[in-house]
Parts: sequence; structure tokens; C-alpha cells
Amino acid sequence: MKTVVFRCYPWDLCDEKPSEAIDRLAGEIGVDAISVVAACPGVVQFRPRDGLTARLFATEAAVHFQPDSVRYTATRLRPPTSSWIKGRNPLEQIARRCEQRGVRLRAALDCSRSETLVSRHPAAVCKNVFGDPSASRMCPSNPDVREYTAALCDDLSTNYPLAALELEPPVASAAADHFTDIGLSIGPVERLLLSLCFCESCAQRAIERGLDPTAAQRSASVHLQPTLEGRPARDQTLDAFFAADEVLAAYALLRRESFTRLLETVRRRTSTPLVLRLRDHSEEPRASASAARNAFDLDPTASVAFVDALQWTVWQTPVEERGQVAAELSRDAGGPALVEMAFRCYPPYVTDGPSLVREVHDAARRGHETICFENFGTAPPACLDWVRQSIRYARREAAAR
Ligand SMILES: [Zn+2]
Repeated sequence: MKTVVFRCYPWDLCDEKPSEAIDRLAGEIGVDAISVVAACPGVVQFRPRDGLTARLFATEAAVHFQPDSVRYTATRLRPPTSSWIKGRNPLEQIARRCEQRGVRLRAALDCSRSETLVSRHPAAVCKNVFGDPSASRMCPSNPDVREYTAALCDDLSTNYPLAALELEPPVASAAADHFTDIGLSIGPVERLLLSLCFCESCAQRAIERGLDPTAAQRSASVHLQPTLEGRPARDQTLDAFFAADEVLAAYALLRRESFTRLLETVRRRTSTPLVLRLRDHSEEPRASASAARNAFDLDPTASVAFVDALQWTVWQTPVEERGQVAAELSRDAGGPALVEMAFRCYPPYVTDGPSLVREVHDAARRGHETICFENFGTAPPACLDWVRQSIRYARREAAAR
């Protein structure tokens, strides 16, 4: 285990004072790096520790630093600066303290979801099979979205001493947006059909590939009809479903390609190491390790050509299947050293200290050289202690081997 990263929202560091928070993270807890969220969708977060006011923190979808406007000339999208920073640039202060303390700094970006950008740039928004625009998802097939993501990465890596940029791929949730009240029975097939994008950019891309987007949309709509009537979810794998519908199968693959192209655009704009986050986000239990991997809804093999590492945030995959998923990802990435393991350090993701200690130890033994923890501000004091114990134990064991 070479690097331990703690993911932090910048407001948590600021409320605790960046100097004190970073000193504590490095000195007391034992991390070598922090990953600071620089762009993300709207957040509502409960913060359990004393001294953090307010306990309930909410902020709109935005970037949490002062953007450098000259970086954004190739896109019509403009980064919305968050209101909580009030004209200051907390990332600058955080970067300075990290340099003084010898803590490596990463910036984390979720560029595909932004309620703010959606409201300002309706032409760049994902549209579902019924033609309805998403409330939060920007489409990676749209050239402005690609250039915007690349510009953010360029801005951050040029203006801050970053050890890495962590990128989050688009989320393929069933109703396309989080917190959607949906009364349908949804399995993997229905989730994919409901999350496919049929915006103008995706249609254009399909036509360039010799596909008929209208036929694909019609087909998706027909397949969803029983679901809309209240029938149970299909008991079918994605592979079996797509084997019977070649048009739709080819169209669904375009989404993966779109994201790979976005990574390629980012890669051209920055030489800072890129880490692609894979969030274990499905709403249902896993049938198998392969199903878990498919749920990432991207092509890890193609993606690794443009990124330096994959980072898997373990979320819902059962403990007994995690080793297998990690092994598959390691094969895609070119070895376990190129797969970072990220753990949420509090309930319900982990329920006690010994479980976290064991998970971290197992991951380190499998050869994952970077271990990440999430999220600093949301963790109760006892959970910060679990993290400290996990780091100490894994390092002690590594030294003894
Ligand atoms: Zn689209």
C-alpha cells in the first residue's frame, strides 16, 4: 500500500480550517493525499462532528473553486461557481496547506451531472426514450460537454499542484435522475432502457455510425411497454436481451463509446494523471461479479487507454464478491496496482472498525497500492478512528512481509 487518500468536500475542510483539518488528516489519521471535490451535482450532507456548522449543509450543482475563464473558450458551457465560496477561492488555500504539509492533492470531478448546467444549456442535456430532458444529466456525446469537461481538467491541472484528477463517469440510473419517484418494477434491462439517451447529439453520432436512432428509440419504447403497464422486471441478463435486438444493442454500445471519446478529449488537454472512478451504484443486489462490472456501464478496456488508474468505490457489492470484481478490474487495468480501492468508512457501507480493517488489509494484500476513504465530513468521530486503525494495520502488515 503506497498511497492513502481521503476524499473531502472543500466546505468541510474550510469549516474546520484547512490547516487544522489537513494536519489532522496527515498527522493523526495517517493519509498521504486528499481528494477534494471540485465540481459536483447539488449536495445535501449531514455532518455529525462537533464544530461543523451547519450540521446540514446544502449547496447547488457547481464548481467549488474560481474558474480561469480563458480555459473555456472552446465550449459554450461556462462553469457555475458555487454560492458558498462567496468570491473566495478555498482550493487555493487548501493547495497551499497541502504543499506545506507534504500531502498530495487530487481534484475530483463529476462533470456529467449538474442541475445548474442543465437549466442553462438545454441543448446539451440527455433525453430519455420518451424525449423528456433529464433534470441533471449532461450528455457526453455533446461536443460542448466534452470540451467543458476537458477545460475543467485543464484549468485545475494548470492552476493547482495536482497529483491526480479523479473523474466520475455518467451514471446510468433507472429514471435518469436521482431521487426520482418511480413506481415501476425495474431490473437491469429496464434500467438500461430507461437510462439510454436519445438527444440530438446521440442521434447524430448513431447516424455517423450507420445506425438508425429512430428505430432504436422505437424499439426501446416497445420493450418498455410491459414495464409501464406494471409488469414485473424481466428475468433476463443484458447479454441475453441484446442478443435478440441487434439495433438496440449497437445503439446501447454507443454510450460507452461516447464516454471513451470524452476521456480521449480530456487526455489531450492535460498530462496530470487521470483516475477513473467506478461507482458501484446499482439499486439491486448483484447476481454475479460480471454483472457488477457491467453495471459500471463503460468499457474499462477502452477507457484505460486514456486514464492512468481505475478507482472502484465499493458500495453495494457483497463482501464475498468484491475480490472477484477487483480481479476483473485488475485484468482490465493491467494489474492490481492500477486499480485503487475506495471505501465509504461509515454505516451502512461498513458497520464496525474490524470490518474496515479487514477490507483494507485484504485490498492491500491483493496488490492495490492506493486505498481511498470517503467522505471526511460525513464520517462520525468513531469512523475516523476506524480509518486510522485500518491504515496502521495495513502498513504494519506490509512492513512485516
Ligand atoms: Zn445524448
